[in-house]
Order: sequence, then C-alpha cells, then structure tokens
Amino acid sequence: MRPAAAAEERPPNFVIVFADDLGYADVGVYGAKGYETPHLDRMAREGAMFTDFYVAQAVCSASRAALLTGCYPNRIGILGALGPSANHGIHDNEWTIAEVLKPRGYATAIYGKWHLGHHPKFLPTRHGFDDYFGLPYSNDMWPFHPTARFPDLPLIDGETIVNAKVTPEDQTQLTTWYTERAVKFIEQHQDEPFFVYLPHSMPHVPLYVSDKFEGKTERGLFGDVIAEIDWSVGEILKTLERLDLDERTLVIFTSDNGPWLSYGDHAGSAGPLREGKGTTWDGGQREPFLARWPGRIPAGSVCGEVAATIDLLPTLAHLAGVEELPMKHAIDGKDIWPLLAGEPDAKSPHAAYFFYWGGHLQAVRSGKWKLHFPHSYRSLKGEGGTGGRPAPYVDKQIGLALYNLEKDVGETTDVAEQHPEVVERLKVLADKARRDLGDTAGKVQGENVREPGRL
Ligand code: MG
Repeated sequence: MRPAAAAEERPPNFVIVFADDLGYADVGVYGAKGYETPHLDRMAREGAMFTDFYVAQAVCSASRAALLTGCYPNRIGILGALGPSANHGIHDNEWTIAEVLKPRGYATAIYGKWHLGHHPKFLPTRHGFDDYFGLPYSNDMWPFHPTARFPDLPLIDGETIVNAKVTPEDQTQLTTWYTERAVKFIEQHQDEPFFVYLPHSMPHVPLYVSDKFEGKTERGLFGDVIAEIDWSVGEILKTLERLDLDERTLVIFTSDNGPWLSYGDHAGSAGPLREGKGTTWDGGQREPFLARWPGRIPAGSVCGEVAATIDLLPTLAHLAGVEELPMKHAIDGKDIWPLLAGEPDAKSPHAAYFFYWGGHLQAVRSGKWKLHFPHSYRSLKGEGGTGGRPAPYVDKQIGLALYNLEKDVGETTDVAEQHPEVVERLKVLADKARRDLGDTAGKVQGENVREPGRL
C-alpha cells in the first residue's frame, strides 16, 4: 500500500453515507433477512468490512457531532437529540471534517439530516459545507408524530427554507432527492477534490419509501426503505465509475446508532448484539462499517479491531495530506488508515473506548473486554410496536459487569469475578476518562470539556 497522498498530489475524494437508526444486522453482509443490499454487499466485497466499529453515543445529535468533529460528544457538550426548541449546536471554535478539508481545496456538501442546530448560525453552511439540502433534525419531529406534538418540519436548501411543511408525500422522496443532489454535486466537482456527507433521514421512523421500492421486499416497509438506501449507494458507485473517479474516491457507509427497538416491525435489528438505540450496550453503538477505495483498500478485507466514527476526521485529514490538524485543542479520534489499508498487524489505536449516555460514563471497552458500571437502561417491556407506533420500554438496572466480547458478543455473561485484574485495569482507564470528559447528568464537567455553541 502506498502511504497517504503526498501533499503535491490531488487529494482523494471522500463520500460518507450515514444511515439513521440502522442496526448492526441491517445490511446483507451483516446478516439482514427479508431483503437484499447488493450495492452495500459489493462495497464489502470490493473493500473493507469492520466488525467492531462504534459510534460515540446511541442517539442522533451526539453521534453526528462526534463523527464531524472527531470528539466524544461530552467533550464538545452535545448530548442527546436536539429538537425544534434547541438553541445550541456545534461551537464555532470546533472544527468539522469539512472545515479541516477546505484548505486542501475540497468542495464540500451535505445532503440529508443535519441535526446539529437548526438556527442559521449552526447550519452546515456555517460549519464548512458549501452546499446543503435536507432536514435540520429528525423526520419524526413533525405534526404527524404518533405520540408527541411538534411544529411543522422544514426542508432547507443552503440556508433557505424551501418547504415549510414537509408532508408524508415529501417524505417518500427524501432518499431520492438527497441522492440526486449528491450525484449532481459529484458531477459538478469531478475535477477537484470533494467531500460529500450523505446522512439519510431513513430508516429513522416514520418510514417512507418511494414508488420505486414500495412493496418490493419480503420484510415489508423497513426492508423496502433499506433497499432504497442500498439503491442510493449504488447510484453513488455508478456515478464514480462513470466519471472515472473510482480509484480517487474513498466511500464509507455506516449508521448513527442502533435500531429503535420500540418500533418493532418498523425498526431494524442489532442481530446478536444486546439492546439497541439509546443504550450503551453494543446493540446501541456497534454499527456496520464498510469502506471501499479500489487500489488502496484491499478487496474483501475484514477488520475486527475497535474503531469508531471519531476516527474519521483524523483519518480523512491524513489522506487529504493535511500535515497538522488545525485545532489547538484535544480531539479523541485517531488515524485508522493502517486498519483500512489492511497493514499487517495493524492494531486499534484505542487503548480504551468509552460508552457515554446523557453525560454519564456507563461502560468502557479495552480489547476484547467491556466493563459496564452500574446504570439503568431502557429495554422493551414486551413485544415491539407495529405499523409505526412505539411499544413501551421499561427501565432495567445493571450492576458492575464484565463481558468478554470475543466469546460473548451479546454481553450475556458477567465474568467480573473471574477476572478481577481486568476489572481494576478498566476502572483505571474509566477514571481517566471521567476526569477528562466528565461523568454527570446535565452539564458535563470534565477538565477538558468545552462549551457547546449557544445562541
Ligand atoms: Mg439515529
């Protein structure tokens, strides 16, 4: 493998496709049932598939903030999911992937769900993106929500609201519209380096699909929706091929958090992993991760090392030939190019990976070991919901518990008593994170925690 692009070469293009609430087992090669994902499976066949890839928090805004800034959400004060009444977003002092790439001559665009502040000063166009088309937050934050009332949902182009009241009919077109805009942007910028971030609104509930895929899968609406996202990935790959950009472009696919299990037949699946969205169990935070770059990433490779969305900023910066990251403050992500390139003996750069929920450190993973600290978590009371209506959760409690993920991927058997030395080692790592990133509900108070952006 060649090293990263030398500074004098034209830097590579990057496309990140980011699904919403798609679980670990919702892609063909990860075990999806009742529908097919030929284009995503092709990405795995022609590129790398990671088995132990994590998002930073099992909920939309926090997860997206981490991907774009390379920081744990606690570090930059963005927790949970920002709604229509939120008055904060990414602080101006933070650097997004788009901002880091701009000085290297990149054209940058986002088509899809932003969810990092909907006021003008927080929009993508103020955080390094040249072009934006999409929803400012989740597609269920609208008047038709089954159990809560929200104001009208807007659709934004650049910084202009082009549709103040997104309708169910509009929702059926979101995946198509985002894809068409991405294809057009790639065509327009084929002669310069580009970064396209494509965070689909789907398969977050309410699920909608266009006529192209409605009723096309055995799995029903959820399968139809994933089939359409797979089609979208295919359109991107086809465009890159047509423009002869295949070998210049790294394409990544992953999701912001695990399945929203209370929605039952309208939710995805975490497969063998425990629980889903909104928890620090692996079903909430471990996601499919596919990366394709012909000639640079070995075809058909599988990586079982711990890696995460926070690693994408430093990795893409390195590949773009950014010699030194511009921010003077700490970030948490590490360059995972050696893992992507399949370098022999490449190891996870994370001695420990931290699992936070709502400002609280709930678990830490180091190698094959994951230690949960006592915490409560939500779990389905009975069966999941049907037809787009949620079923109730109940709160459950877990005490200190150690799991060997190599033997027990479902986090079922506590082995803390058999491995007291591992428990002690992971406790020390966790204490370090608590001092640095904080460990409180509400306001986060670590030594190096920065203020979120405020209106
Ligand atoms: Mg989500």
